[in-house]
Amino acid sequence: MPRLYESRKRILVTGGAGFLGSHLIDRLIAQGHEVICADNLFTGTKRNIEHLHANPRFEFLRHDVCNPLKLEVDEIYNLACPASPVHYQYNPVLTTKTSVMGAMNMLGLAKRLRCRIFQASTSEVYGDPEVHPQREDYWGHVNPIGTRACYDEGKRCAETLFFDYHRQHGVEIRVARIFNTYGPRMHPRDGRVVSNFITQALAGEDLTVYGDGAQTRSFCYVDDLIDGFLRLMEAPSGVTGPVNLGNPHEFTMMELSSQVLKLTGASVKVIHQPLPADDPRQRRPDISLARETLGWEPKVELAEGLANTIAYFRTLSPPH
Ligand code: NAD
Ligand code: UDP
Ligand code: UDP
Repeated sequence: MPRLYESRKRILVTGGAGFLGSHLIDRLIAQGHEVICADNLFTGTKRNIEHLHANPRFEFLRHDVCNPLKLEVDEIYNLACPASPVHYQYNPVLTTKTSVMGAMNMLGLAKRLRCRIFQASTSEVYGDPEVHPQREDYWGHVNPIGTRACYDEGKRCAETLFFDYHRQHGVEIRVARIFNTYGPRMHPRDGRVVSNFITQALAGEDLTVYGDGAQTRSFCYVDDLIDGFLRLMEAPSGVTGPVNLGNPHEFTMMELSSQVLKLTGASVKVIHQPLPADDPRQRRPDISLARETLGWEPKVELAEGLANTIAYFRTLSPPH
């Protein structure tokens, strides 16, 4: 329902044509707000937001966050950044620029407007962690010159800028460290395990498990994650984060492959391929802080989330 004018906010979402951004915009629009989506469509697509074009409370702006942006808004969510290794390693210099210059420009905007700003940070700031599960007070273990550094260090520097704008200029910041998330509108060719397994199963191809498949991950369903974004943004002044947002429920890649096979009904095999270098055995968030400060925890079970994601991927694939 549209809100009364007094409580309606105008909200800027950078990276709004992407996977997470488009779900965030759907929720903000459903709450009655006005949304400006700024995106250069590097990995995002108009398809993710095409259902919003007729809505008078939605506006799309093709814009690269490496450039300054002058607008009048009440809140900013900064999500613009390629997120998966295939995408962020395609042009690593641009990835660092997007994280760092994008953060600086959006913080400059927030400083001028005296408005609250949210940063989509990442579990990658912990690098290849030496402690499990990761808490927010762990400083991380990042290789500053490796091929993942453009993303990891870019996001770390963005966090630094957020905290310095907060301390030096009093900007109200909200920093979320997002762990692996999946759901409809995730990029089908991002090379991640969920999208690979589903596209393979739907195409009648064998599922490629890297290594023995005993490594574990924990995946958060997108609706749960967006609920965490909104709670963090609405939290009282003083709650800056960083706050881990993710699902602490761990499963092995073999378990994931069985679930995908069961839910798609595909009659294909699992084949093993070499484990990529530096592939972590385990990754899992400690979400105690989000539970305590935001009253947040994920609710959607893997089977339900996967079923929704598979239904979405079916709309992209040719019929079988
Ligand atoms: P995505 O690639 O679907 O979305 C990113 C969006 O940013 C895209 O629409 C892309 O076109 C846009 N973009 C990229 N560079 C830009 C630029 N210079 N100017 C303007 N727009 C630009 O990825 P996502 O999964 O939706 O990720 C959104 C944010 O969340 C990213 O900042 C990412 O680092 C972070 N994150 C995501 C995950 C996850 O599991 N999906 C995990 C940790 C962090
Ligand atoms: N900026 C922007 N929109 C604004 C205000 C600032 O894009 O409404 C950009 C500005 O161009 C600068 C960055 O944000 O590159 C940081 O701004 P800040 O005011 O902090 O720094 P300064 O402009 O003094 O270097
Ligand atoms: N993986 C896999 N098959 C694939 C893609 C990935 O077995 O087709 C494995 C990968 O080696 C890793 C896990 O799945 O152990 C998660 O990989 P992803 O790239 O999705 O996320 P990340 O490693 O960044 O957590």
